[in-house]
Amino acid sequence: MANTNLNTATLYVVATPIGNLADMVPRAVETLQTVDIIAAEDTRHSARLLEHFHITTPMLAYHDHSDERQLQRLVERLLSGQRVALIADAGTPLVSDPGFRLVRAARRAGIAVVPIPGPCALIAALSAAGLPSDRFAFEGFLPARAGQRRGRLETLAAEDRTLIFYEAPHRLAACLDDMAAVFGGGREAVLARELTKAYETIRAGSLRELQQFVGADGNQQRGEIVLLVRAAAGAERQVSAETERVMGVLLAELSVRQAASLGAKITGVKKNLLYQWALGRSG
Ligand code: SAM
Repeated sequence: MANTNLNTATLYVVATPIGNLADMVPRAVETLQTVDIIAAEDTRHSARLLEHFHITTPMLAYHDHSDERQLQRLVERLLSGQRVALIADAGTPLVSDPGFRLVRAARRAGIAVVPIPGPCALIAALSAAGLPSDRFAFEGFLPARAGQRRGRLETLAAEDRTLIFYEAPHRLAACLDDMAAVFGGGREAVLARELTKAYETIRAGSLRELQQFVGADGNQQRGEIVLLVRAAAGAERQVSAETERVMGVLLAELSVRQAASLGAKITGVKKNLLYQWALGRSG
């Protein structure tokens, strides 16, 4: 197995499914089966995952708010040569989940830290949202209090990258109201709910439309939610008027890929930027 030396102290940062157990990658199973210990956000929750994959490795609870001694004990285990895997309740550890302090402490102690990549809700949502994906900003959870939430949104109103948020279902309606008030109801957004699960819903529309959609169907205010918001109009990085003209001519005759490739040779602008620009234009 690549990058997994059975005899060397290593901290493995292991992604696990965000709902659909079939998304567990084989390397994650193999790693969890072979490490000395698994540090889990919630051992009771993760016991079900381990049982499903017949993993009998012992677990201990780890949280970034755990006391300093627990962090030190894990680092000592690593320094004594043990191999430790870190998992969260779902998805990729450290992404709105514990692990930052442990990874940092391990690296500072000179211990190898190896990622075992896999599911991550924000990336899954972005990959299917149809919003510009060349540049994006992940904002995690917005503050729960309305005043603070609006304050944070105001700082993001002119952001020139696609914005990605995690949101709790009981705050979704209030969050959409605040986004519409601060960004304007016409701003394009995507609600990505229950990804990889039975009731997966990916709904694109203006913030106003999403407010109506969620208001009319209480089921939309359940489950796990990622919200994506398009960059402010005019803020996204644009190509020059001349490049737009050249691309317009090329796109009339060629596929997006061919036009981007030829357009890059003519204008000197990066092919990928032209490709993304052309995709955004046709959307
Ligand atoms: N570490 C996780 C990851 O890699 O995505 C995120 C953990 S964070 C504590 C939990 C939040 O992630 C949820 O409240 C929701 O916003 C988002 N999330 C997790 N699973 C999801 C899913 N299946 N569909 C939509 N959003 C999800």
